[in-house]
Amino acid sequence: MKAIVVNQFGGPEVLALATVPDPKPGPGQVVVQLAAIGINPVDTYIRSGNYAHKPALPYTPGMDGAGVILAIGDGVTRLREGQRVYVAGSLSGTYAERTLCDASHVHSLPENVSFAQGAALGVPYATAHVGLFSRGQAAAGETVLIHGGTGGVGLAAIQLAHAAGLTVYATGGTDIGRQLALAQGAHRVFDHQAPDYPEHILRETAGRGVHVILEMLGNVNLAKDLTLLAPRGRVVVIGSRGPIEINPRDLMARNADIRGVMLLNTPPEEIARVHAALEAGLENGSLRPAIGREFPLGDAAQGHIAVMTPGATGKLILQP
Ligand code: NAP
Repeated sequence: MKAIVVNQFGGPEVLALATVPDPKPGPGQVVVQLAAIGINPVDTYIRSGNYAHKPALPYTPGMDGAGVILAIGDGVTRLREGQRVYVAGSLSGTYAERTLCDASHVHSLPENVSFAQGAALGVPYATAHVGLFSRGQAAAGETVLIHGGTGGVGLAAIQLAHAAGLTVYATGGTDIGRQLALAQGAHRVFDHQAPDYPEHILRETAGRGVHVILEMLGNVNLAKDLTLLAPRGRVVVIGSRGPIEINPRDLMARNADIRGVMLLNTPPEEIARVHAALEAGLENGSLRPAIGREFPLGDAAQGHIAVMTPGATGKLILQP
């Protein structure tokens, strides 16, 4: 089969299309024939070799995808061959025509959800769910600011928060991205490039501040976030690409919290609960991933450049 293979860590150019042996399922495993693959920022960090998790070389990138089950190993009873599924985690990597998965990483995909939408679920929706509900303890009637609401995680968080009865504010860096955030369920949108956006948000809450902030770029926004929180508010840091100085008094004055999320370090029992909730949201129609650009598998390098370029308009997908 065709797959992207990384032989050495480095820039996007190390993503090479190659022919590799077909995967075979062992006990407790399944092979999925992929129809769409999700590109996540973490795939680029791992590829660079500068991330905490460094796979042994050579390796095939990717954790997310969607397709149809091709083969099932001994002991797997929950899934069947030919079933439409999405993949949230892979043993062999998803930047390929087929992927080998532990059965626990494979979840049912309803008929009326496309494969591209299925490939947008794993990392983004699970991270948004853990950030919003488990770490952020967001509750119906509260206000949430999704700081970076135009990309994979942000749009997922908008849909989840809207369905859960929160008032949803979101930021985006472009008009088209902010329009998308509104269409996906944000009640108000703001421009995170505008110097005075914090004042606009505070004015929108009549000076009270927001209960929860999901932060996609902590190293840029965290200090300002603390001034936007309501009493007992929570900032959940999902993304950060460097250090930042904060004023702890902004936290003290509000009895507020800063909390972190690392999806890859979330316990498997919690991940299983999250995917049960996501499968329910797909079935009842409240969750429908918004897809941005799609690239052929051989153009994975272009996908890696695009996912690190500002101006997000939904989830980036590779087509095998
Ligand atoms: P993505 O699809 O590439 O989207 C990036 C988002 O960041 C866009 O909404 C973008 O908005 C926004 N952004 C850019 N500049 C910003 C700023 N100054 N303030 C606020 N937002 C800004 O990426 P993603 O998959 O949604 O992931 C978002 C971040 O979370 C990434 O850093 C990723 O590594 C991280 N992440 C962490 C975990 C975890 O377990 N902790 C899991 C998944 C993702 P515009 O393009 O409209 O400017």
